[in-house]
Amino acid sequence: MKFVSTRGQTEPHSFSEAVRIGLAPDKGLFVPEKLPDLSSEILSWDGLSYPELCYEFFKHFATDIPQDELKALIEKAYSRFDHAEHAPMVKLSDKLYVQELFHGPTLAFKDFALQLLGCLYERQVAKSGQSINVLGATSGDTGAAAINGLLGKKGVNIFILYPDGRVSPLQERQMTCLEEENVFPLCIKGSFDDAQAALKDVFGDKEFSQEVHLSAVNSINLARILAQCVYYIYAYLKLPAERRERATFVVPTGNFGNVLAGWMASRMGMIVDGYRVATNQNDILHRFFSEGDYSLGDVQPSHAPSMDIQVASNFERFLYFSLGGNADMTREIMEGFKKDGNFQVGGMAITEFMTSTRMDDAEIAQTITNVYRDYGYVTDPHTACGFKELEQLETAVILSTAHPAKFPDVVEKCTGVEPTHPSLEALKSKDIRKFAVAPDEASIKAFIRSKQ
Ligand SMILES: *Cc1c(COP(=O)(O)O)cnc(C)c1O
Repeated sequence: MKFVSTRGQTEPHSFSEAVRIGLAPDKGLFVPEKLPDLSSEILSWDGLSYPELCYEFFKHFATDIPQDELKALIEKAYSRFDHAEHAPMVKLSDKLYVQELFHGPTLAFKDFALQLLGCLYERQVAKSGQSINVLGATSGDTGAAAINGLLGKKGVNIFILYPDGRVSPLQERQMTCLEEENVFPLCIKGSFDDAQAALKDVFGDKEFSQEVHLSAVNSINLARILAQCVYYIYAYLKLPAERRERATFVVPTGNFGNVLAGWMASRMGMIVDGYRVATNQNDILHRFFSEGDYSLGDVQPSHAPSMDIQVASNFERFLYFSLGGNADMTREIMEGFKKDGNFQVGGMAITEFMTSTRMDDAEIAQTITNVYRDYGYVTDPHTACGFKELEQLETAVILSTAHPAKFPDVVEKCTGVEPTHPSLEALKSKDIRKFAVAPDEASIKAFIRSKQ
């Protein structure tokens, strides 16, 4: 299996190469040359453990990694989860399920992708003997998850940009209270989108990229999207057989990476009723799916900070596939968007298959209260965004993207219960170690150089 760029101006790459590079040289995102048809295989995976299922899935993509190595790597990646099922389903009613994706080391769904990515990098460094510098931007959870995926890995430095004061205090502690020498949390003045824009510019400098062997860890990395497909299939197989094809996955969404993975699993043959994009008040995606309007607004800080995003990088992959793999058109649209800050869909069909909702902060708080009252279930503010207009759905699987203990203030205020988790308690007494950097290309490059 080879991987091509959504912008069509990069030659096909192997899985390992595409993972190592992250962003394609033409600034597009890597996608499989052709999505495999798994429709006849998926049901035969019923009953597999999470790592086993992950292996069966990845065999189709990571074709340049020997199978026994791939299997061992996946087992290692999922060895630090605190639940035997990794991604357990909680049944709230006959037609309402929550899939808990917060049993990894940093208590957010991003661990599924980043624990695996860390192991893939480790293999790469060991094989090539060449150290790498990983650079990412985070609106909160990515940074912690990325750092934890790469913590102490030999030959790997990790630099994570995040907006100062716009991630929760606990999220910040998860990034900055680590003693490993290979970890550099970089706080910037500005929004997540400023960080993301600077990051794209740094990656755009190919010479610099090659000089320090730069690699991306934000949600544009191909391995992350593929790793996330797996829990959708796992959830699908855990549903009662008669509900599977009628299920809608409801996905709290920011950068579009999570929901895109589910949608891709469906394009590989996992038949469901649809996907629901649940946004907070930063609703560019809701405006797109309800009105066809994709235009930038200002980022408004919310109760669900990991979704405080207006530029949904992974949307480019969705465009590409929706346009039937037309890279020229994708490139034109994305270049136009960079210039004008918007585009209208015009002829592109928005299917019923992908619907959306939006929740402001008052609704998020009310929802946390109601869900606790109605089901006795404590939910975090990101997951809460999914509990909207559910009566329209025959069967809903809400993806729970974070443990409520990561957002204790709002959760306690709304439920009267203080959510806790031992791994977070342990962080509270540790020292913070972070570096202030200006959110521009030159400053970031200088910092990275100074650590070589
Ligand atoms: C990152 C994150 C999201 C958004 O996921 P995307 O892939 O960016 O759509 C939602 N909830 C939590 C808790 C997150 O960490």
